[in-house]
Amino acid sequence: MTPRRLLAAVLAPALLCASAHAEEKPAPTLLRCGRLVDGKQGAPISNAAILVEGDRIVKVAAGLTPPEGARVIDLGTATCLPGLIDNHTHILLQGDITAADYDAQLLKESIPYRAIRATAAARTALMNGFTTLRDLETEGAMYADVDVKTAIDRGVIPGPRMFVATRAMAPTGTYPLLGYSWELRMPEGVQIVDGADAARRAVREQVKYGADWIKYYSDRKYFVKDGALRSWVNFTDEEAKAIVDEAHRLGRKVAAHAIGRDGIESALKAGVDSIEHGDGLDDEMLDLMLKKGVYWCPTIYVGVYVAEGRAAAGNPIWATMVDVERLAFGKALKKGVKISYGTDAGGYDWKENQAKELSYMVRYGMTPMQALQSATSVAAALLGKQDELGAVEAGKLADIVAVAGDPLRDVGEMERVTFVMKGGVVYKGAGAPQP
Ligand SMILES: [Zn+2]
Repeated sequence: MTPRRLLAAVLAPALLCASAHAEEKPAPTLLRCGRLVDGKQGAPISNAAILVEGDRIVKVAAGLTPPEGARVIDLGTATCLPGLIDNHTHILLQGDITAADYDAQLLKESIPYRAIRATAAARTALMNGFTTLRDLETEGAMYADVDVKTAIDRGVIPGPRMFVATRAMAPTGTYPLLGYSWELRMPEGVQIVDGADAARRAVREQVKYGADWIKYYSDRKYFVKDGALRSWVNFTDEEAKAIVDEAHRLGRKVAAHAIGRDGIESALKAGVDSIEHGDGLDDEMLDLMLKKGVYWCPTIYVGVYVAEGRAAAGNPIWATMVDVERLAFGKALKKGVKISYGTDAGGYDWKENQAKELSYMVRYGMTPMQALQSATSVAAALLGKQDELGAVEAGKLADIVAVAGDPLRDVGEMERVTFVMKGGVVYKGAGAPQP
C-alpha cells in the first residue's frame, strides 16, 4: 500500500465515526439553580430549573421534573444568569497603557503570533463567563479576528460567540503608529481612509472579508475648554456619513470611538449605532442619543486602568476624563440612555477579569440588576440579537453562567463565575469534560 493509501485507510473509519457522532441527538439537560436572574425581569426566580435541548433553552420553571434520559446538572444554591456579553473588546491586543506598549505589539509580534495570543484571550473571556463578544477591531492584525471567530464556530478552540469589526478606520496621520521617521514604512493600527469614495470602498472590503460591524475613530487629541471635554474630529462630515451609509446599505451597524463632545456630535450626526467611550457626553448629546436610540458603551474600567500610566507619560487629560465620564454616566442613567456593557478588554491586560466593569457601573449609580441587564439583555439588543441572546428563557440559545454567591447584593461576585454553558455545551464547572 502506498503511504497515501495507507493514510486513507486509517482515516476512513475515524471520519465515519466522527460523522455518526455528530448526527446523534444529544440528551436533554436539566439545570437546577438555587436562583435565576434571567436578564430581563426585575425579581430573581427561586429553585429554578432550566431545560436545554441541543443548543437551545426549551423551558424555564421552578421545580421541573427531568424528562426521561435527561442529564441533570444540579448547581445547588448557585445563582444562574444569562451568559455575559461584552460589546467592546480587542482579543488581538494585550494591554496598551502607553504608546510604547502598543507599538511593541505591532512591531515585534507577527500577526500569527498575535492570533495565537487571541485564542488564549478568547478562552479567558469564555471561562470568565463571557459567552458573547463584540470585538471592535484588530489593531493592525488585519482580518485575524474573523479567523479566530471561525475557529471558535467550528469547535477548533473554545471561545465566546464573536461579532467582529475587522480593521476599523481612521484618516492619514490620526492613529498609531505615529512619530517615526518618514523614511520608514510603519504598520498601521487601522485601515487608513481618506475621502468618501475610499470610505465606501473600505466598508465594502471589510464586509467582504467578514466584518459583522464597522468601526471608525471619530476623534483624538482630547482637551478641556469651558468645562467641556472637547476633541479634534478625524473625518469630515462627508467621509463619516459615507462610512455609515455604506455600512447600513450592506446591513452592518457602525460603532464610533468618540471621547470628546466634538467627536461624539460628528458621529451622531453621521448616524452611528453606538458611541464607544463617550466620556464627554453632555446633556445635549445625551438627548440626541435618546432621540436616535443610540447605545453607549462607557468602558469605565479601562479609563481608570490607563489613566495613571498615561498621566505619568505626560498626558494628564486621561485622569480628568475619568471624572468627566462619571458625571456623564449619572446623567445618562437618569435620562434613560441605553447603556450597554463594554469594557475595552485587551486595551488592558486579559489577566484582569473583564467583569470588573460591573462594579464600576454600580459605583457610578446603577443597581446591580441594571448592571447585569446591561451585560445581558441590553447588550443583546445592541447586537440586534435580542431574540437569541441575553436572557434565560424558552427559545433562546443556552448561554448560561452561575456564581456561588448573590450578585444582586455584591455584583463583584460576577468576577468568580463557577459554571459556563455556551450553546448547551458546558465549558466550566459541574458537567464540564475533565481536562
Ligand atoms: Zn477599544
